[in-house]
Order: sequence, then C-alpha cells, then structure tokens
Amino acid sequence: MIKEYIKINIASPSKILSWTERLLPNNKLVGEITKAETINYETFKPVNDGLFCEKIFGPIKDWECNCKRYKKIQIKNNDKIIICPKCYVEITETKIRNYRMGIKLSTPVTHIWYLKSIPNYITKILINKSSEETNKISSFKSYIMIKENNENKRWITGGEALNILLKEIKLEQRCDRLKLINHFLQTKSNPHWMIIYNLPVLPPNLRPIVKLQDKTLITTDLNFLYAKIININSKINKLRKMLVPEPFLINEKFTLQIQGKRGRFRENLLGKTVDYSGRSVIIVEPNLKLNECGIPEEMHAILLNRAPTLHRVIGIQAFQPKLISCKSIKLHPLVCSAFNADFDGDQMGVHIPLSLKTQAEARLIMISANNCTSPATGLPNILPSQDMILGCYYLTVENTRLYYLLQQI
Ligand SMILES: [Zn+2]
Repeated sequence: MIKEYIKINIASPSKILSWTERLLPNNKLVGEITKAETINYETFKPVNDGLFCEKIFGPIKDWECNCKRYKKIQIKNNDKIIICPKCYVEITETKIRNYRMGIKLSTPVTHIWYLKSIPNYITKILINKSSEETNKISSFKSYIMIKENNENKRWITGGEALNILLKEIKLEQRCDRLKLINHFLQTKSNPHWMIIYNLPVLPPNLRPIVKLQDKTLITTDLNFLYAKIININSKINKLRKMLVPEPFLINEKFTLQIQGKRGRFRENLLGKTVDYSGRSVIIVEPNLKLNECGIPEEMHAILLNRAPTLHRVIGIQAFQPKLISCKSIKLHPLVCSAFNADFDGDQMGVHIPLSLKTQAEARLIMISANNCTSPATGLPNILPSQDMILGCYYLTVENTRLYYLLQQI
C-alpha cells in the first residue's frame, strides 16, 4: 500500500528563487519587493514593487490588470499566460494572491530556528565551535578570518561567516553526528541552507489589510516586520553603492538578523479570532454521549479546540452539538484527557466547518468517538479520572459504618 506523506525540507536559495521569480515579456525578472509601502491610502491600490504589488503577486480583481487595459476577459485556454504589456500584471484569477510569494534579497542572516532552538543544529554540525561561539558570530560580536585566493586575509562575521563555515563541511567525510549528517544526505540538503540568502515573503492574502466599519485600516504585524526588513535592506544596498566599507555596515546588518525569542508564529498567528467561531468556558455534563457537546443557543458549531493545540494531545475534535440554555460549553468528562482539559475555568474555541468537504472530514475523521487512542503513543485517551474514579470507589466500597448506622435505625 502506498501511503501519502508530507516531507519537510530546508529550501535552497535557488528553490526559493524558483517559487517567486518570473520572466516578463520584456525579459525582466519580477519577484523582488523593493519598496516597503503597501497600498496607496487614497486610492486603495497596491503600490508598485511594494508589499502588495500586482505585478509580483497577481491581480486584485479577477481577470483585470492594473492599467485597466484588460477588464473581465476570461482566458479559456488555461495553459496560456497573458501578461499586460503595459503594466505587466498577469491576467488571471485573483486567488493567485493566496499562494504566490514575493522575495527580498538581503545580506545573509542566520535562520533563527537552527540557531536558537534545542538542539542547536548549526553548532552540532560545526564541530569546532561551541554554541556560544556560533551565537557570537551570528550576532556580529565575534569574527572569523578567511583567506581569499590563498593570499588576502579578511575578517568576516554574521550570517556571511557562518555560511562560509557551513559550506566548508564535507558531509561524506564525517564520522560523527551520523543521524544529523544522514538527514542532510538523504534529503540532499546543504548545511549552508540554514542561512537565509533569499527571504520568501508570504502571499499578500495571508497578511491582508482590512478596512473596518469606521473606515480605519488594520493590518497584521507581519507587514510592519517585512517593511522594516525592506527598509534596512535598501539602506545597505544604498551604502554599498556609495562604496562604504563593509565594517561600517555592521549595525544595519545586525538589525536584519532577527533575534526573535518567541517567534512570529506564536506571537502573531495563533490565538486569533476567526470568522464563524466563538469561545466559552467548559463545564462537565456526564449525560451527554461521548460524541456530543452542549453548545449555548446563540452558538452553532461542531469543532471544539482547546489551546494550546499540540501534536501530542488531540487539541481539536469534532462533536455533534446539542443546544443548551446556559452560556457555557458542556463537555463529556471522558474526552477531557484527550484535550488535556479540566473544569477549573478552562475555555474552548468553537469553529464551524463550512464546506461540504470539511464537514465530512469533521464527521468522519475528527469526531471524538473515532479518536479514542492517542496518535502519538497509541494508548487510550478516553480515560476516567477524578470524580468518576471517586464515584466508582464510593459506589463499590464496603461501607461498614453505613451498615451499622442503618441497623441502629
Ligand atoms: Zn495593464
């Protein structure tokens, strides 16, 4: 039986380029974002070469280009790519903005995942450097010396230095860290890909600008972060054009090296309120069936989620909703251990699966009654605990004192 699976690799700098760069009819490459601006606040149109550029990411309206030369012309032949010769916007559906990425070329920076996480893979693979040393190099506090053409000596630091050290590693000749080396060899990945040369920029529809009812514009912090990176990057490029020596650029390069401890994902993307969702406190209700949950009358839904949604517990499960008149969510006590939930004030989010496909998936795969074992260990996660155990104990204990009392009466 062939099983479908997902494999996650480090992307090479050229792979990242291939996601983003496209050749225009005028033989120019498009894909690099050079301006930190997002949209023109008067016209609400994306700024050219900016973070929402139509030339880079695709049209904001179906089958319409920026200069309005093309308007609502649907192209039947899907293979043919039509690009407006005037504004260079591809004539296609606007949903392309959901997945087409942009790019920002920058001074190499160290990928924070491989530097600050445990184990620290960059240190693990660089044999003669301690994790303190690699951290010092990446944060521009320590230098390494390289020889150019076997003659000129040069001191370098930052991502650039780590990149050179990682490039020197000959994986095939190593006889230590075999597990890690094997992963690199098997996936045909290169250690120096842990340094970011080309920074992919998320598709614009995943970091949208939204107009509220009172006409104020709000946007995700990611756009500010990208704008900051683009600004520093253009400053470095400008200074380089003015032939400013590299050591004077260290301050700018250092600001590019994001030190983030908590990560963008944790800080910005999780725990957001989404459409067709709600949340409330959970309370116990043993009279429910295992695959049922009590949902307040104002809320209709069947996906329940308890934060944190981790891989070792089943943080999201589907339930058949039963409308109740109180304001909290009622949950069967046996599913608590799967959610790692208790009733001391825990809250749960409720989400409504909208499309037919997600509804089917919720009813068949995610329904709590089909998730009795932990995917991590295979052990049962429908477990009685606390009150249930105590109740069973009291019902079955030989209560001599009660017997004595009854006899007295
Ligand atoms: Zn046009």
